[in-house]
Amino acid sequence: MSEAVREGVKVSTDVGHLFAVAGDDGRPDFSPADVDALVDDLIAVLGPRGVSQLPRSVDRASRDGSGMSPVITAQLDAGELSVPDVVCYPRSVDEVPEIMRAAVRHGVPVTTRGKGTGNYGQVLPRFGGLVLDMTSLTTIHGVDPDAGTITADAGTKMLSLESYAQEHGQQLWMYPSTVQSTLGGFLGGGSAGTGTIVHGRNHEGFVTAVDIVPATADARIIHLEGEDAQPYVHTYGVAGVIVRATVKVEPLGDWRNVYASFPDRSSAFAAATAVMRARLQPRLMSADGPDIVAALPDDEALVPGRGSVRGILDASRLTEFETIVADHGGRMEASRTGINASVKLSTLSYNHPTWWLQKKEPGRWFHMECQGTAVVDRFEEVLDVYSVPDGGGNELRANFHLEVGNDMMFGMLNGPVLPGESIDTVRDRIAAGVPQLEALGVSVHSPHQWYIDLEPDRVRRLAADFDPHGLLNPGRWM
Ligand SMILES: Cc1cc2nc3c(=O)[nH]c(=O)nc-3n(C[C@H](O)[C@H](O)[C@H](O)COP(=O)(O)OP(=O)(O)OC[C@H]3O[C@@H](n4cnc5c(N)ncnc54)[C@H](O)[C@@H]3O)c2cc1C
Repeated sequence: MSEAVREGVKVSTDVGHLFAVAGDDGRPDFSPADVDALVDDLIAVLGPRGVSQLPRSVDRASRDGSGMSPVITAQLDAGELSVPDVVCYPRSVDEVPEIMRAAVRHGVPVTTRGKGTGNYGQVLPRFGGLVLDMTSLTTIHGVDPDAGTITADAGTKMLSLESYAQEHGQQLWMYPSTVQSTLGGFLGGGSAGTGTIVHGRNHEGFVTAVDIVPATADARIIHLEGEDAQPYVHTYGVAGVIVRATVKVEPLGDWRNVYASFPDRSSAFAAATAVMRARLQPRLMSADGPDIVAALPDDEALVPGRGSVRGILDASRLTEFETIVADHGGRMEASRTGINASVKLSTLSYNHPTWWLQKKEPGRWFHMECQGTAVVDRFEEVLDVYSVPDGGGNELRANFHLEVGNDMMFGMLNGPVLPGESIDTVRDRIAAGVPQLEALGVSVHSPHQWYIDLEPDRVRRLAADFDPHGLLNPGRWM
């Protein structure tokens, strides 16, 4: 979710803010000869196995989670983002400054890549060049329970980090539902997840230090702490490559992974809202109606035909939760313990229910990220915005996945795509719906564009220092 949504700020209804525009804006001037010269230098640094121009490597580096957006998918199909020329795989953070100096020497753009799960197309190179794959940099340097921190190299998976923390009696402040994604990618392109209800977003104090490599001729690792480290979060790698980070942990809680079912969507959403209002402060709390439950992976705790509220709750609040469930006509289905149960619940949260819905019915859905109490209080009107007649006298109804947030409600509004509908019509319907949603009191963020969406003017000033030649993930300015 974007800053615009999370702060409750209404985004402009200007269509330019909803979709990305193709073009050469920001394209660095480099040639195939520059790429060849860079490849020679990279082989000298990384050896031949650390550099690849094989079709399978380049193809892999040209994919991400943006398949969730039919709009970006159509742009990819139309060749509006280019494939990288070369991919490299550093095995030590100390190699990254050398890679960066070589890229600057030859004027070749660099897109830093974690696991490639970003769903806005923000990790797909717009103008080719080098993809810097960070996934081999997986060293965890340790937990410091007194300081409440854990330090790791940028390619470490968030799940590995949480597991390591738990082995040491700690837990991460937060991790995204894409648990296999990397620390650098979550800080570079993500924003929230399990833990956000209590701790907010990942740029709100989660990070205590970063080691950054700028794109300069004399690039070296720069260590930044405290307030100095915050500005590099959610900058899509345009303000330097994060090679290592220190993030917050806290003592491991006594968690219950709870599932409750409800007669329908509205009772489930009312119960989730009551959890927020009662400040049960769960680590995670998600809710769906029967329509989305039907798309989730089979689990006896997800009952067909019923609404679902599920989350990660401190054991001491279980009785209060059970009371809320009963008061809303629901029943408890399961209460599970352990990291695997928590991870499973996390993979049913945030964008994931939409992802499961799209997996079940490919090509049938687009989504918009929405925030505000109106998503519960004016639910049917919110659904009306993107519901559409099917031409046969019926209506294809939108649906909604709900998350409890940091003192607010938000989620994914899933709009149906008509069979055979052109992408231009879908875009028009998306755009036309935004002012209607805003009039209902819903803040909207479009997941159909790849531009920097967190304080872009500030990030641009940061990038001017750390990337004076405009080589880092270029083409990200709206
Ligand atoms: C189904 C689904 C569910 C999702 N759920 C969530 C969620 O719960 N919360 C959430 O916040 N996001 C979510 N996302 C978005 C995304 O998965 C996360 O943000 C994820 O943490 C990104 O990590 P990654 O390693 O895949 O990064 P990538 O996709 O590889 O990169 C993301 C961005 O960060 C930049 N980047 C990568 N590594 C670095 C680095 N070392 N230094 C600087 N910049 C870097 C990239 O250039 C790119 O712009 C979801 C996406 C999908 C498809």
